[in-house]
Amino acid sequence: MAGRIKIVAGNWKMNKTSPEAVKLARGLIVNIGRLEHPRVILCPPYTALSELANILKDSNIYIGAQNMYAAESGAFTGEIAPSMLLTIGVTYVILGHSERREYFSETDTIVNDKIKLALKSGLIPIVCVGEKLEQREEGQTEEVVAGQIDGSLAGLSADDMDEVVIAYEPIWAIGTGKTATPEMAQEVHRFVRDRLKAGFGETAEKVPILYGGSVKPENAAGLFSQPDIDGGLVGGASLKVEDFAKIVKSV
Ligand code: PEP
Repeated sequence: MAGRIKIVAGNWKMNKTSPEAVKLARGLIVNIGRLEHPRVILCPPYTALSELANILKDSNIYIGAQNMYAAESGAFTGEIAPSMLLTIGVTYVILGHSERREYFSETDTIVNDKIKLALKSGLIPIVCVGEKLEQREEGQTEEVVAGQIDGSLAGLSADDMDEVVIAYEPIWAIGTGKTATPEMAQEVHRFVRDRLKAGFGETAEKVPILYGGSVKPENAAGLFSQPDIDGGLVGGASLKVEDFAKIVKSV
């Protein structure tokens, strides 16, 4: 839909030491640092956030974190508060990624708490949802995604949704090389938008819904041409300057 912002975000996961991250970011600045569209967001590990925020501040590339804790401060050894991210120049934060849900037992309730504090603090959450292979095969995709949407966004207002990005990432497509076809992805994106509309009204038309799951230069254009796919959350292919730049340019 006209007016909805297009986004390509790179989730670097637990990859790149600080010097490696700086090299990758500099390569991206040369290739896509001046593009006005789509909005490009890099989500490096915590250890590279500050340095990258400095390097990128004169470019059109934004910085996102991969996670945060749902408290402002306190005795939470090893965790990072939203204010710590904001003060070093972070704008976005990925929340509820399937790897956090699976390996770190994050529930919709935990994700919901994080989203609320992120919004209160001024960070824009990129909220991930998506079904497992067995769930898709058993025809439960919509039920699972609806549960994650409702649970993760519980208690938010339509105004809050102005500052939320959703990423639909079928778990069976993450890091596997198996991508949903553009039609399969569009079907779920439409479903997500309808679900948002039921909860938040017309604001749903403004919420960017990104697709994630083995997005590559070869399949990006097909996915991004679908009416409810507003860009991508890219893992593996975001670690190579050429591939990520091609994906960004295919929006
Ligand atoms: C991700 O982890 O968000 C992701 C989409 O990974 P990949 O592109 O490697 O499938």
